[in-house]
Amino acid sequence: MRHINEIYINGQFVQPHGTGVMQLINPANKTVIADVRLADEEDARRAIAAAKAAYKSFSRSSKEERIGYLQAMHDAIQRRSQELIEVMITEYGGTRRMCTGTVARSANSFLLAIELLKSFDFVRQAGTARVTMEPLGVVGLITPWNANYGFICSKLSTALVAGSTAVIKPSELSAMQTNLLTQCLHEAGLPPGIFNIVTGRGDTVGAEITRHPDIAKISFTGSTVVGKQIARGAVDTMKRVTLELGGKSPNILLDDADLATAIPQAVMAAAFNNGQACLAATRLIVPEQRLEEVKVLVKQAVAAMKVGDPGDEDTAIGPLVTQKQYERVQSYIRLGVEEGAELLVGGEGHPQGLEQGYFVKPTVFVNVTNDMRIAREEIFGPVLSILTYRTEEEAIDIANDTVYGLHGYVSGADLERANRVASQIVAGRVFINGLYDEPRAPFGGFKQSGIGREFGPYGLEAYVEPKAIIGYDVPVHENAQR
Ligand code: NAD
Repeated sequence: MRHINEIYINGQFVQPHGTGVMQLINPANKTVIADVRLADEEDARRAIAAAKAAYKSFSRSSKEERIGYLQAMHDAIQRRSQELIEVMITEYGGTRRMCTGTVARSANSFLLAIELLKSFDFVRQAGTARVTMEPLGVVGLITPWNANYGFICSKLSTALVAGSTAVIKPSELSAMQTNLLTQCLHEAGLPPGIFNIVTGRGDTVGAEITRHPDIAKISFTGSTVVGKQIARGAVDTMKRVTLELGGKSPNILLDDADLATAIPQAVMAAAFNNGQACLAATRLIVPEQRLEEVKVLVKQAVAAMKVGDPGDEDTAIGPLVTQKQYERVQSYIRLGVEEGAELLVGGEGHPQGLEQGYFVKPTVFVNVTNDMRIAREEIFGPVLSILTYRTEEEAIDIANDTVYGLHGYVSGADLERANRVASQIVAGRVFINGLYDEPRAPFGGFKQSGIGREFGPYGLEAYVEPKAIIGYDVPVHENAQR
């Protein structure tokens, strides 16, 4: 049993001013693994003050200095990657495969940031004006529990490329992971105040960051409900906001798709990260005439996925993160049945022999129509809805009939046709024939899936502000960004 009694402000681990304590539970066996003392609004203000004090000097640091910091952060994470993986499995219940990938991507985000720092156009020309892309000031980075390291590292590394200092508010459910990650980042040896990490509740620490006048921008990843609260709260001080929110992503199976490949991919795209993924492909839209074949292959694909101990190499689906999340997913499974959808696989309750943790049965519904709540609302568990279509146009209409627009998926043998369909899906990213990792491509959503983009130059644009200096023959000032 761990006691986490520290947050990270101004380059030091300090005791929180907040006195609230919460327990962390291993979702695979429901044992208490830690208690965590939570930060409060006063801690958020101390962190913001430290980031503000560090901003003046950091925003003028050279490219070389920043490259050194980013490299050191990468190296520190690499050195302790095995520990990071184990803590993520224990606290979050992510499968070993998934957690290994998350830690690798988290470290890599600092290398991608170095690449970006070298290639981004910080000084541009517009007519006779010289335009410099300036950092915004102190940024607030608010992150969820479903890939804690990944969100912290990608947001922080981008903020540092821009020349901003940061106050990070991770999910309180990831306090053990955050504590270990903070130790790694501390070992990188950056000057104090450049990044500060304050674990506490959203309605205290998160709300203080949202309203504080010294925060210039918020980059938030989380639910659409909280994203809307943040957007409302940020407007009084005219903060810039990037919001990465929920999804209900469609997966259109074209009638020429190779089902033997496409169906296992479709099932995995719905269930990876134990179904707790914003980009999960939770609506599989199939040609009516191929439904019977699809049903057989879906059953086989689900049967082939091992649900169980997330620490085992071959586990495909581990437990959900909390009791609350478990109950929420169960209630959606009940709702699907009540709404008249037909259970093809899975259903309510634990998989046999896995009653000791928050495990759910991977569940697939057929005879789903797009007006059912199971087809409209984000469930955040391994629950897939299968819908049918008669024409390509109808498939696209079903895909786009949602308030979300984060991701889309298309499977088909004729790539020109698949591409034509992909071009009509209203979403920030569309995958053709698979699920890919492309950290240089923009990531973000249309409609209620968010505002703005992350990753690569598109993500960096959201951390800088253009400033025009107009006057003939004026040299570039040394303070202009690098
Ligand atoms: P959440 O919205 O409940 O919480 C996210 C973060 O916001 C947490 O740190 C939380 O403490 C904080 N928060 C809560 N209330 C707040 C408030 N009033 N003011 C400021 N901060 C507040 O989300 P979650 O349950 O942690 O994560 C699951 C959700 O995240 C899902 O909806 C999922 O789709 C979404 N998500 C989106 C993406 C994406 O990139 N689009 C990625 C992963 C997860």
